[in-house]
Amino acid sequence: MIDRGYYEGFGGAYLPEILVATFDELEEVFNKAKNDPEFWHEYAEIMSTYSCRPTPVTFAGNLTEYFKGAKIYVKREDLNHTGAHKANNVMGQGLLVKRMGKTRVIAETGAGQHGVATATMAAKFGFKCTIYMGEVDVKRQHPNVFWMERLGAEVVTVREGTRILKDAINEAFRDWVTNMDNTHYVLGTACGPHPFPEMVSYFQSIIGKEARKQILEREDKLPARVYACVGGGSNAMGIFKGFLDDPVELVGVEAGGRGLDSGRHAARLSSQDASVGIAQGYKTYFLQNNDGQMRHTHSVAAGLDYVGVSPILAYLKETNRVRFEAATDKEVVDAMSLTIKKEGLIPALESAHAFVQAFKEAPTLPKEDIILVNQSGRGDKDIFTVADAFADPKWREFIRNKAEEYNA
Ligand SMILES: *Cc1c(COP(=O)(O)O)cnc(C)c1O
Repeated sequence: MIDRGYYEGFGGAYLPEILVATFDELEEVFNKAKNDPEFWHEYAEIMSTYSCRPTPVTFAGNLTEYFKGAKIYVKREDLNHTGAHKANNVMGQGLLVKRMGKTRVIAETGAGQHGVATATMAAKFGFKCTIYMGEVDVKRQHPNVFWMERLGAEVVTVREGTRILKDAINEAFRDWVTNMDNTHYVLGTACGPHPFPEMVSYFQSIIGKEARKQILEREDKLPARVYACVGGGSNAMGIFKGFLDDPVELVGVEAGGRGLDSGRHAARLSSQDASVGIAQGYKTYFLQNNDGQMRHTHSVAAGLDYVGVSPILAYLKETNRVRFEAATDKEVVDAMSLTIKKEGLIPALESAHAFVQAFKEAPTLPKEDIILVNQSGRGDKDIFTVADAFADPKWREFIRNKAEEYNA
């Protein structure tokens, strides 16, 4: 099945010659760490003292009663430091950077969440940090830029191309080629050239390992289905890895945006709109036109708004191990609203995609069944985007008043 970064033809590492040695070094240090039991111990230890691990599973009793079907459990990745599962990946890579003796990290970021997580890790470990972000995203996501700068990172505004995430990725690679001696590129999801998909999934597998144990301890049986939202695929890979060898149905939920028929979505594995191609150093399904130009994607959740997807998930789709669905922006806002009111949980807009599908299926399952939803992050930190998505008039008035205060 898996041959040095290939998953039945997906994945690989399509690299410029100059980066080959750096990737070899990374793969070597990762393989050594993976085979060293001390390393996982060190990782789990820092995650428990710095980031609230193990995160609990919460029984959503009110939602279970409301849908009158399977018992709904929620894995609480929102309780991580910086508010999402992204902490697992950046702290893991940070430990590898220390092992390689490097002193500087760089990252790309779209919404800014991965940038904040990386800058946090850099502050903790004492690394220099540069974050590449498209000009359009810098304007849209200023609160995250504010925090990255407070954390000591240099935020570089990318004005090339369409000035969004993919342009930031290109700039980060350019930096890496020039500075690979002392610099590590902290890729933010289970995508990109080998060994990133495997390495990021490995660190995120802490989610699934914990969740499997926690559900068995509480219920003495496995969940029937596990749901996770899919942007690049790291939180989904993380929770799915705990259940891959079990008779558990795994469901990945992508951004359906304005609907699959609208063309304005980021559904790569749940629509017929994507095709296999090679870009950004790896082979997977991309939303591209007939000339291989990347299409514009859309989602209410910035973290799911991406043209490619993990090659490991592409493989798990082809082999029918994971089922893929899409949730529209509107369904997402409704599911998020309901979850907040019924349980007092505030999932991120990204995570709410997984809730949409779980809510559709819970009533069709028997009451003895358990379903598990990965709450990949918390929504309260993204008040600007969430308030927009909810179209809250009082929030708008507040922003208007604030602007007037500054203008006065
Ligand atoms: C970034 C992000 C995602 C999407 O990334 P994956 O790699 O697909 O997990 C999902 N949920 C939250 C809360 C995020 O911040």
